[in-house]
Amino acid sequence: MKGLMQDWPLLCHKIIDHAATYHGDREVVSRSVEGPIHRTNYRNIRDRARQVAKRLEKDGIGFGDRVATMAWNTWRHLEAWYGILGLGAVYHTLNPRLFPDQIAWIMNDAEDRLLFVDLTFLPVVEAVADKVPSLLKVVVLTDSAHMPETKIANAVAYEDWVSEADTDFEWREFEETTAAGMCYTSGTTGDPKGVVYSHRSNVLHAMAAAQPDMLNLASRDRMMPVVPLFHANGWSTAFVCPMVGATMVMPGAGMDGESIYQMLTEERVTMTAAVPTVWLMLLQHMDKIDAALPDLENVVIGGSACPRAITQTFQDTYGVEVIHAWGMTEMSPLGTLCSIKPEYAHLEGEEKLDLQAKQGHPPFTVEMKVTDDENNALPWDGKTFGRLKVRGPAVSSSYYKGRGAEQFDGENWFDTGDVAHIDPHGYMEITDRAKDVIKSGGEWISSIELENLAVGHDDVAEAAVIGIAHPKWDERPLLVIVPKEGCNPDKDNILDFMKGKIAKWWMPDDVAFVEDIPHTATGKIQKTALREQFKDYSFP
Ligand code: ADP
Repeated sequence: MKGLMQDWPLLCHKIIDHAATYHGDREVVSRSVEGPIHRTNYRNIRDRARQVAKRLEKDGIGFGDRVATMAWNTWRHLEAWYGILGLGAVYHTLNPRLFPDQIAWIMNDAEDRLLFVDLTFLPVVEAVADKVPSLLKVVVLTDSAHMPETKIANAVAYEDWVSEADTDFEWREFEETTAAGMCYTSGTTGDPKGVVYSHRSNVLHAMAAAQPDMLNLASRDRMMPVVPLFHANGWSTAFVCPMVGATMVMPGAGMDGESIYQMLTEERVTMTAAVPTVWLMLLQHMDKIDAALPDLENVVIGGSACPRAITQTFQDTYGVEVIHAWGMTEMSPLGTLCSIKPEYAHLEGEEKLDLQAKQGHPPFTVEMKVTDDENNALPWDGKTFGRLKVRGPAVSSSYYKGRGAEQFDGENWFDTGDVAHIDPHGYMEITDRAKDVIKSGGEWISSIELENLAVGHDDVAEAAVIGIAHPKWDERPLLVIVPKEGCNPDKDNILDFMKGKIAKWWMPDDVAFVEDIPHTATGKIQKTALREQFKDYSFP
């Protein structure tokens, strides 16, 4: 017997319709790339998204066509995003921080037909546009007054372009399993791999992400996604916020500590989300001024492990609760979130911080396990670590064009490439990326744990740990440190600080001081580049 409920396909553009209908006046505030603060609301975003869809159609863009965006978080990006979705085309977010050749490769792989680009990134596009034969048009997200000279043949200013269509457009209806968006993983090894989201996966993911034990987002919230829409599906904020009717505060190109602080305070943001490097910049800025964050309740930190010192400063100094999160582009991206279950509600002080260093527990829709190399499931005892595998309706079943097939097994379990353990209450903790873990004398040392410990030292701005070849132990850890401005820490002082907090044999064999540490396009420490930098290093 079949259920007798309606077939109401889970389509992403229904989210913006819902927002426009029930939260129509709710603000979307952006720092425009041109400078001034811009204010609109969900009703206008929906109307303009319809215009975008209608205008795209005039350009010959239709169902299944890939439309790229290379843009900051602003209202225009959001309109373009929903316009693409409502037409049944596929948004393809491009990370401008990649090398031009990589961007061209990705655009050709996806066969992008049209590109929305912010003024900031026009030079990047000028370097690649010729190399992408499928590209018909480049729409610059600005008005004619700010439109610069460009050598790109088919470039137009967004406001001129979109005004050539009206809002009279009916969203397209199609199957919920239709492709909605694409995002390529950074591809630190081999070619980048395309992840393809469906309308269904995005909608289900947003519903899961909004839950109280996850983002706990509601219409009363003023959410600022600092994480760009081009990083791992924008952590789903472009769907979750309109779904629940939360105000969106979009930081635009202002990603420095001062600009972020200004948006957080002037726009009375209650929740925000970004990678640890962004929060380091903010905290360093706030340290220099008489700062306070009276409206901010929660800060979501993910993308790489959140150092304990960041959690502690947010909570103890500014009264802002940290929510540590883990995810992957392949997971839409939310995997786990470290909200506090009743079993742990009694924890305080250091014990609470220990818990918050974990990446947390998954929402309904994410299944998780850790296995050994022979795929045997390992116990959930909070210490036995192995390969972390996941599955669910918003987890990739394969990459675009069947790449990376070895990461999927016959039962849909996706091998995350992370090494983790899970405790009896289902809290997962990442100990490393499989390729970064340090193998010393047949045992594993977690580079992440050492890094998190080192950044707790008062004089340390950033820390990274890599394995250096060792004749006896195979590999030993080298701690690489960027000192805080004006500080001059020495090796013994740092090692003394770490002593007693980790097993003796985990202690780094040496400390190297550098001016900066290389980062990936998504702001993570780039271990491959760091290993290259230290390839001739040997321990004293
Ligand atoms: P990219 O590698 O292109 O930045 P992702 O954002 O998809 O793409 O990276 C996902 C990976 O980032 C995870 O597999 C994990 O290794 C790491 N990661 C994400 N969040 C965390 C976290 N909270 N703690 C530790 N590692 C994390």
